[in-house]
Amino acid sequence: LRLRKFLKQAEYKYNVGIQDLVFKPGRSLTEFMDFRIFKGLFQLDMLKDIRKHVAEVSSHPKLKAILEFPVLFLGALPQNTPALYSLMNYADMSLGTWYPMGGMNKIIEGMVSVAKEQGVKFRTSTEVTGFKYSNGRIISVLTKGGSFTADIVVGGADYHHIDQKISSPEYREYSPEYWEKRKMAPSSLLFYLGVKGKVNNVLHHNLFFDYELDQHAHEIYTDPTWPTKPLFYASAPTKTDESIAPEGCENMFLLMPTAPGLSGDSEEVREKYYHLMMDRLESYTGESIRDRVIVKRSFAYSDFKSEYNSFKGNAYGLANTLDQTAIFKPRL
Ligand SMILES: Cc1cc2nc3c(=O)[nH]c(=O)nc-3n(C[C@H](O)[C@H](O)[C@H](O)COP(=O)(O)OP(=O)(O)OC[C@H]3O[C@@H](n4cnc5c(N)ncnc54)[C@H](O)[C@@H]3O)c2cc1C
Repeated sequence: LRLRKFLKQAEYKYNVGIQDLVFKPGRSLTEFMDFRIFKGLFQLDMLKDIRKHVAEVSSHPKLKAILEFPVLFLGALPQNTPALYSLMNYADMSLGTWYPMGGMNKIIEGMVSVAKEQGVKFRTSTEVTGFKYSNGRIISVLTKGGSFTADIVVGGADYHHIDQKISSPEYREYSPEYWEKRKMAPSSLLFYLGVKGKVNNVLHHNLFFDYELDQHAHEIYTDPTWPTKPLFYASAPTKTDESIAPEGCENMFLLMPTAPGLSGDSEEVREKYYHLMMDRLESYTGESIRDRVIVKRSFAYSDFKSEYNSFKGNAYGLANTLDQTAIFKPRL
């Protein structure tokens, strides 16, 4: 009953959040001068933290960890995150977790095909290196594959990269000190695995909460360091969709959240965590998996930087703290 009440409140926050907050461009305070939002400040739980709110549902550490885990990706400790974000629990638990058959890339393929129908031309593998300006406006985009004139430019890459690396110095909006002070959401260490044969006793989504959430959260936010006893997520999408692996094989990935901006994601460090997670996965499933891994690729800080130009190797962008939300986001 307490969980139902929690999710009912979360549903209200989700609806107001999506309709009245997320779809606003966040350029002026007046956008938020809406009676529903002011009335909702209390119902939206902007002023209470999510740790206290979750404690109203259960005192069991594992149940609390399940409800608090999603906010770990937002960029702050549960005790510093507004209870507004129980809307994520509503999205997860009530709306459900959806999966596109054929893999996540099917969503991209769908968007590309709709855009192409509308006449959009894509140029992939064409890195943007700078802009050409005239009278304070960008008139063309410089890339490694030539320059392109443009009436309007929309920058979709990491904020910091566009401001500090792509924009000419005289058109940068912010200083390096400003960016240094931004709170970034976590990075992650990932392992993409192809396993010969099936892995029993796992579901599509598996959360390993066999250690304390608080210690891992502390090592992400309070004292950024490589975690000692990390929680992690293990995904086995072949449990839903056999088409994404050769017959009889398992397609899996492991994801361990880490503090943004750590250094030293060497092969040795990655391997240490690979074995730490695999020890726990094998002990939980009761079968050996490592000796059946036929494809293995890791992805961490240096990959987020080299492939996405991601500031401090973050995986999820700017932290979603109140002081970096809506009108407080950087404006480029
Ligand atoms: C492992 C993982 C799991 C996640 N899970 C979830 C989840 O469950 N739910 C959720 O909501 N979010 C999740 N996220 C976060 C989500 O993927 C991102 O927030 C989202 O992709 C950001 O979209 P974007 O378009 O802003 O940036 P991106 O998707 O990063 O797109 C920016 C693009 O710009 C390109 N680019 C960068 N620099 C240049 C340049 N100079 N020239 C040309 N191109 C450039 C990059 O290569 C990239 O393709 C997850 C992220 C990761 C890494």
